[in-house]
Amino acid sequence: MKTIGLLGGMSWESTETYYRLINEGVKARLGGLHSARIAMVSVDFAPIEELQASDDWEGAGRVLAEAAQGVEAAGADFLVIATNTMHEVAPAIEAAIGIPLLHIADATAAPIREAGVRTVGLLGTAFTMERDFYRGRLAERHDLEVLVPEAADRATVHRVIYEELVLGEIRDESRTEYLRIIDGLRERGAEAVIEGCTEISLLVGQQHTDVPLYDTTALHAAAAVELAVGGLRPRS
Ligand code: GLU
Repeated sequence: MKTIGLLGGMSWESTETYYRLINEGVKARLGGLHSARIAMVSVDFAPIEELQASDDWEGAGRVLAEAAQGVEAAGADFLVIATNTMHEVAPAIEAAIGIPLLHIADATAAPIREAGVRTVGLLGTAFTMERDFYRGRLAERHDLEVLVPEAADRATVHRVIYEELVLGEIRDESRTEYLRIIDGLRERGAEAVIEGCTEISLLVGQQHTDVPLYDTTALHAAAAVELAVGGLRPRS
């Protein structure tokens, strides 16, 4: 089994989910007492959020590149950056390490394409919904048409992430807003919606809507398990 490198803490609320899903996935694949081999560095989210808010992506890239080097030094075979937003600085991180990156947008796009979906809605932080690093990759590498909410709704999605979800606050009224926004994306032609922020699945699950949801946390964790255990099978 390969060692999964986990760069977490953005926020720890979702890194906890990654940790559980990865271990559950390895156990499901290998059985018995098996659990995942994980090398993790978990950063303090407050300075990262300040760098985002001040548009200092170079600075954020430096901090996360150093953290990723720590993950590599701890024995990881590949890297999982446990946030969509900070894939903005994936090139700086990749340049600083010698192990491959399992990109969250690729892990998400693969099952979407397999399901035959071509037009997909995207929810996430303003950075993820508005900048090119994520939408561009979905469009150019995976041939997906990506719809995002209108400006006021993007602000709502972003605010709920930073003022509630990363703090572990789950509010019914915010779920209602998200479901309204998801319905709006469907009305505009989205066949499915990407939960493109690793905390969104804490608020909205498939049980809340009949619009197909693609949860980046679960898909990224599943792809990491697949890469880690590869062709390994449970011992009989
Ligand atoms: N975890 C979130 C994401 O997937 C947002 C927090 C962050 O800015 O990293 O984008």
